Amino acid sequence: MKRRLINARIPTGGNGTAFREILVVDGKIAEVVGPGDGAGGEDTEVVDLQGHLLLPGIIDGHVHFDDPGFTHRENFETGTRAAAAGGVTCVVDMPCTSLPPVIGVSSLQSKLDEIRPKAHVDFMLWGGMSANVLVGDGWSKDLEDLVEAGVASIKVYMLSGMDTFKDLSKDQLRSVLTEARRLGIPVGVHAEDRKMVRALEAGLRGMGRNDPLAYAASRPEAAEVSAVQTMVGLCEITGTRVHIVHVACRRAMEVIAEARAEGLPVSGETCPHFLAFTVDDLEEQGSLLKTAPVVKAEGDRTGLWEGLAAGSLEFVATDHAAGQWPEEKETGSIWTDYGGVPGVETSLPYLYSEGVRTGRLTLERLVEVTASAPARFFGIDNRKGRIAVGLDADFAVLDETERWTVRAADLHNLNRYTPLEGRELMGRVRATILRGETAYSRAASGTETFGPTGAGEWVMREKRAEL
Ligand SMILES: [Zn+2]
Repeated sequence: MKRRLINARIPTGGNGTAFREILVVDGKIAEVVGPGDGAGGEDTEVVDLQGHLLLPGIIDGHVHFDDPGFTHRENFETGTRAAAAGGVTCVVDMPCTSLPPVIGVSSLQSKLDEIRPKAHVDFMLWGGMSANVLVGDGWSKDLEDLVEAGVASIKVYMLSGMDTFKDLSKDQLRSVLTEARRLGIPVGVHAEDRKMVRALEAGLRGMGRNDPLAYAASRPEAAEVSAVQTMVGLCEITGTRVHIVHVACRRAMEVIAEARAEGLPVSGETCPHFLAFTVDDLEEQGSLLKTAPVVKAEGDRTGLWEGLAAGSLEFVATDHAAGQWPEEKETGSIWTDYGGVPGVETSLPYLYSEGVRTGRLTLERLVEVTASAPARFFGIDNRKGRIAVGLDADFAVLDETERWTVRAADLHNLNRYTPLEGRELMGRVRATILRGETAYSRAASGTETFGPTGAGEWVMREKRAEL
């Protein structure tokens, strides 16, 4: 199978772009040449990209597609359709929001059997370690088996709201980190101080508070900063590669950056909703924007943008987590309403529009934080994350000049709501190419076409000596 992509503009550094032709052979990038420089060939299909921007396919390192188990919220078919429509060619699915959770090879296998036939884009799977598992003796063998099987990374919680995947104590964290170090795999941490949050929540609920700002007050900046400091300490003791997921405030980001500057192997990701919204938006939108951690102050929002540009944050992931809409988001109490927002489909257009178009991020940095850096973190940079000969031909085709308005009804995930409702963005995905094949395309008329269900493949972490 040969395809030649012509009239593509690819990023060349900074905000620069250049016209290139890309030859795809058997799903891999075989040639990147100037316009008209490529050799033809009768068996080559030519695809005219009409001068649109061609980016490496987005790697979303943090999604909850809930399958199997919580498929009233999302399933792998709808989740990966939304990914394809958003220029995302590889998602990394969390282990905690499917049943059984991915805490050993048998649950990994049953999940793979369930989701493989549904995938529109490639996927990796996080493995996880919860307090439910750590009560027994077999967990270190389970962890070893998961790593051997090729999970992307290991997820743990310092504060979890899930009975099926409980948070770890500091001692348990240290044990898991020590094993992860030995097995050569990074650990991703939901970092919020459990004691602090639980005490604040109990106090606020005791006062009869049941409003969005009470929820925000129960999960303050201090809870995040203290947890990140704990993880930095454990990183120092164990030497384990630690990654803080969904960093929501400036100070937590600074703690990570400071530790990194001292040579510790720690990094962080942030999410589009923390770049887009503050507690004022939460007050207005209520549970629609309820997430954990919670959105914070304007100074945090702008600080995260600055840190993303400067390299204090490693990459952007969406934490895509859709609740059943509207039932689970309108339970009558902010405390019981589902926490999570969909995001996989809007991430690239949002970051392009509000990052690159406004001058907050260079195009080069956009590519880094959405593709190249997650590929390195998950150990797949020999396969994905860049436009280079020999790598998978995974691309997002972006029309930079299309101005459009985000409407939940137009999204493709199962439960369609978005805090970005009504937001006007500049730049929209026109096509998504997965290993050379079209996974999604949208004609100028608006007609959308998806590639076959099941075209997405499981991608395993590559084993490395160094992390
Ligand atoms: Zn998450």
